[in-house]
Amino acid sequence: MSNEATPISGNIEPLMDGHGRPINDLRVSVTDLCNLRCQYCMPAEGVEWLSHDSILDFEEITRLIRVFISLGISTVRLTGGEPLVRRDFPTLAGMIGKLGLDDLSITTNGFYLERDADALVAAGIRRFNVSLDTLTRERYAEITRRDVFDRVIAGLGALEKFDNIGTIKTNAVAMRGFTEQDVLAFAEFARKRPYQVRFIEYMPLGGGDDWRAEEVLTGAEIRELIEQRYPLVPVIVDPHATARVWRFADGVGEVGFINPVSEPFCGSCDRIRMTADGKLRTCLFSLYETDLREPLRAGASDDELRKVIRDAVWRKELKHQIGDAGFRKPERPMSSIGG
Ligand code: SF4
Repeated sequence: MSNEATPISGNIEPLMDGHGRPINDLRVSVTDLCNLRCQYCMPAEGVEWLSHDSILDFEEITRLIRVFISLGISTVRLTGGEPLVRRDFPTLAGMIGKLGLDDLSITTNGFYLERDADALVAAGIRRFNVSLDTLTRERYAEITRRDVFDRVIAGLGALEKFDNIGTIKTNAVAMRGFTEQDVLAFAEFARKRPYQVRFIEYMPLGGGDDWRAEEVLTGAEIRELIEQRYPLVPVIVDPHATARVWRFADGVGEVGFINPVSEPFCGSCDRIRMTADGKLRTCLFSLYETDLREPLRAGASDDELRKVIRDAVWRKELKHQIGDAGFRKPERPMSSIGG
């Protein structure tokens, strides 16, 4: 089985869902394991982990991504759990980096970034999103249940030496009663460091059943807090991008707002996901999954796998239903779906 990228051959229609949206972005969770225990994501004792046998190996992940590319997927984001806890992750990234994607990126909690930065960039990863919910060590230890703030900051620093990667992005989950006191510090951080600091509205995806709409600190509210000190101007971004980006009016730095609750962006969604155990999820909030691992291990051809994927994508959900009467949270926890 060659690793050569399979370009869309003349007769392969690019992926499209039943709502007319082209699908070209794939999020791949390479493990459900994580070395942190963020309060909004999982309990202190962790969750029931996927069995080792159920996890796709490097060849399986690479082959499936090659099949997705043959259907028009052009960008891949590698996630977890925490992707860098998967042994030899840079090797896997290198195998995927050879497949001819337009863009390969990663979402990480940054703990192993200082150790792996060189290998990740050498493997072909060009965009880095680092989870960072606060800028104080004590509050970081409180929310992640791990006192490793300095490692994450050092990891971010390790990325600054590269001139061949995109803007380094940090992601803070925005929760009422927690994030407000960090907002101005994050604004200063975005002005001092070459990072785009983003705030992601808190979503009902964690391990517990305690999400409440009133706990969501909206992007608009955070922007208002920042603008009390620093005027912001909107930046035009790719319509498929999930973040609304604003630049400080004096030109020093950028902040972004990902508002799936208050300003859903499902209409232009071009994303699908694959879990570490080989399940295709057509939406972050999907209540059903399509198994790719079983046909793969049963010897399915690329054409057969393409048919399974295409049929599943055609049934992709129009939008999430957060706030709707019938909303049900996915059974699979966020830690096993990926960022
Ligand atoms: S909630 Fe689902 S449909 Fe909406 S943007 Fe996210 S993945 Fe796409």
